[in-house]
This record gives sequence, structure tokens and C-alpha cells, in this order.
Amino acid sequence: MRTAYKERIARRLTWVTALIILIVFVLIYLVASFTVVRNIDYELQLETDKHKDQIFLVNGEIRFLHMDEWEEMEHSQIQLNPIFIEIVDLEGKSKDRSPNLRENHLSFSPEKSLKNEAWTQKIGASEVRTRQIPLYNAGKHEGYLLLAKSFDDTRELLDNLRNVLLVFYPMILISLYLTMRYLAGKSIEPIQEIIEKTNQITQKNLNERVPEPELEDEIGQLTRSINDLLGRLEQALKREKQFTSDASHELRTPLSVLRGTLEVLIRKPRTSEEYEQKIQTALGTIDRMSAMIDQLLALARVENAKNLVREELELITFLEEKADQISSEQKRKITFQSQVSLPIYITTNEKSLEMILDNLLHNAIKYSPGNSDIFLRVGKSGAFPYIEVADSGSGIAEAHLEQIFDPFFREKEALDQGIPGTGLGLAIVKKLAQESQIKLSVVSKKDVGSTFRLDFPSQS
Ligand code: ADP
Repeated sequence: MRTAYKERIARRLTWVTALIILIVFVLIYLVASFTVVRNIDYELQLETDKHKDQIFLVNGEIRFLHMDEWEEMEHSQIQLNPIFIEIVDLEGKSKDRSPNLRENHLSFSPEKSLKNEAWTQKIGASEVRTRQIPLYNAGKHEGYLLLAKSFDDTRELLDNLRNVLLVFYPMILISLYLTMRYLAGKSIEPIQEIIEKTNQITQKNLNERVPEPELEDEIGQLTRSINDLLGRLEQALKREKQFTSDASHELRTPLSVLRGTLEVLIRKPRTSEEYEQKIQTALGTIDRMSAMIDQLLALARVENAKNLVREELELITFLEEKADQISSEQKRKITFQSQVSLPIYITTNEKSLEMILDNLLHNAIKYSPGNSDIFLRVGKSGAFPYIEVADSGSGIAEAHLEQIFDPFFREKEALDQGIPGTGLGLAIVKKLAQESQIKLSVVSKKDVGSTFRLDFPSQS
């Protein structure tokens, strides 16, 4: 069975408090009984001292000196808590006793007098606290004086206290449990509201948010975290939609061109040169489409590839080879520059880094005049290795420095000048860099050139 959270909080708190209250009640009872017993024992001691001198001890006879006076005193005072006295010889045989004992005797226990401590015993139906001291006559041990004081009032007091505590204990616990349940319910009310609101939010109303409480407490933080999460989800969904619509648009355009070309071709008979030219156009369009599909697949692959394998790589050799390879493939001079002489080792996914550099170097070649310089630089900024791809080409307008990383974004000049491209390369670069924890940045000035920079995390 599922127990409600408020129920659990209330139960746990009640258990803990029950234990604490139990300890406190037991302590109260023990302290109270210890104090009253100590008081009685003290009174007993005073009485013993008082009565010890009123005993007649001569020639083996032991008795009260002034029994008649004592009796009188006993009768003249209203004895709320009477004293019982008995004198016994060494064998414990009763020699004399106070009249209020009637037919009862106080029990004799020689070892108690050695310890000089009081104890509780029964006389008929009553309980008494008893003390016993040895009696000496001229240094000779003659017997014992037993003194007892009624313990009934004290017992009643202690029993009452115990009963009150026993009755109060469950009552306190029940009211505590109910109060805690109520308070716990009240404190989790905002969570209930959050649950209800979040349950209502679906893909259709992802723009709605959970109302944020005014207090800056944990519930406020939870609400804010949920709202932030909803915000991120909304953005991701928007980007996804935008991407799908951009992708279909980008693919539909060359398809329409292809269709147009073919329709024109079949409208009437053509010369073989005309056929060749139109087919060439159609093939060019197909090439562009397959390049775009390749890029789209690459982007999808990057998005799905999590936790790429990382291996150690020596950057200087790797980049030198890369510059040579692209340079000979594209018939363009790429100058490799290393700012440090010692090898630079990094741990990264080689394939991802290769793809990033391919895209950046191809862009540098595409967007700069054929005779301009392209640099591939490597260096270290403190403990952090970095790579730069710099060109002196068309540059990027400041307003577009962020947008160039969005899928399908291309600057107008690139489109107008008919520079081939899909607008997906830098989006792929950005994703790959994120995956490999590489910081990607760009500095560019229109008609001066652009520098793309990759900063690696510390390798130590
Ligand atoms: P593509 O090159 O296929 O158009 P990218 O995503 O690689 O797509 O680049 C997006 C846009 O950023 C390019 O269309 C271009 O306008 C601009 N761009 C990228 N690199 C450079 C560069 N080195 N110099 C000037 N503009 C650039």
C-alpha cells in the first residue's frame, strides 16, 4: 500500500517525539520518586537520632524510657504520617514497640543496619519505610532500634504521578500525530500544486509554467528548476521543428529545380548538346542534394553519438599532416604554424577533431580568394592547448557571428556568389565541439578575414 508523504513525515516525527517524551516522563517519575524517598529517609534519620536516647538499656533489659510520655505525645498530635518504633535484641526478638504498631512487628534485618540504609516493607496492608540502627550499652551491642514511617502517602503520590503520565502519554502522542499530519499536509500543499500543474503541461501547451511561490525556499527552487526544464524543452522542441521545416525546404528546392529541368527537357526534342547541358545541370543539383543528405546524416550521427571514445593524440604532427592533406586535395596553400616546439598531447576523439578541422579548413578555402593566406596554428595558452584556423577572406558580419552555427544558416553573400554549401557544416562543428568539451569561438571582420579557435580543456 502506498503511504502518503505527509503520513510518513507525521509517523517518523511522532516516533522520534514519542521516544523523547517517554524518556522525559521516565526521568520525571524517577526524579520525583528519588526525591520523595530521600526526604522520607532523611526524616527517618532525624527521628532515629531523636528516639535513640529514649531507650532504656540495662542488665539485658531493653525498653522505652518514657513510654507513657511517648504514648501521650502520639495521642495529643494528629499524626498524619505516624512513626512506628520497635526494639529488638540481637536475635531479632521484639523487646518493646510503639503502641501504634498494635499486633504488627517491624521486620528485622541485621545486614541493613551495617549498610545504614532504609528500605520499604509491609505492615499489614500498609507500606512503610524502615530504618534500623544498632543499640550499644557501654560499648556492648545489645540490640537494634527499628524505626518506620508510613510510605502510603508517598506511594499514592507516586502512583498518581505515574497514572497521570500514562494517561497523558498516549493523548499527547495522538494529538502530536494529528497535528504533525496536518502541518505536513499543509507544507506539501505547494508540491501538490506543482504536480497538478506539471501533469497538465503537454507538448501543446509547453509555453505554460508552474506558478512560482514568493518564498525563496526549496519549493521555490524546485518550481524554478521545473520551469527552467520546461523552458529548455520548449526551446529544443522549437529548434527541432525549425530544423525539420528547414531541412524539408532545403531538400524541396533542388528537387523542384530538378523537376523543372526535366520538364523543360521533355517538352520538345533537343539537340544532343542541349540534352548534355540540361543533364549536367540535373547532375549538379543531385550532387548538392546528396551533399546535403550526407551533412544531415553527419549531424544526426553527432547528436546520437554520446560518450565518444577518447584517445591520446599528438597535436603538432596531427595538424601538420591535416594541413598537407587538405592542401594537396584542394590545391590550396595552407600554412601550418606551431607556437610551441615541444609535442602537445591531448586526449580527444580523433574522428570528431578531424571532422571539425575539415569543415573549418574547407570554409576558409571556400570563403577566401584563391591566392590569400590560410593558417592552421597550434599553441598553448597556459596549460590549455588551442588550435586556430585563420583566413583573410570575406569575413562574417558581426550580426551573424552567432547565427552561422545554426543549421542551414548561410550569409546572403555566400548565396549570391553561388558558393556551394548547405549551411550545416558549422552546426556540425558546434555539436562535435560540445561533445568533446572543446570551446569553439570565432573572431571575424568583414572583408578582412576570420579566425575560428578551438580551446581544449586542461590535459593534466
Ligand atoms: P556552408 O559553408 O555550407 O554554407 P557552414 O555552416 O559551414 O555552411 O557556414 C555557414 C555560413 O557561415 C556560411 O554560409 C558563410 O556565410 C559563413 N562562413 C563560414 N565560414 C566562413 C569563413 N571562413 N569566412 C566567411 N564566412 C564564413
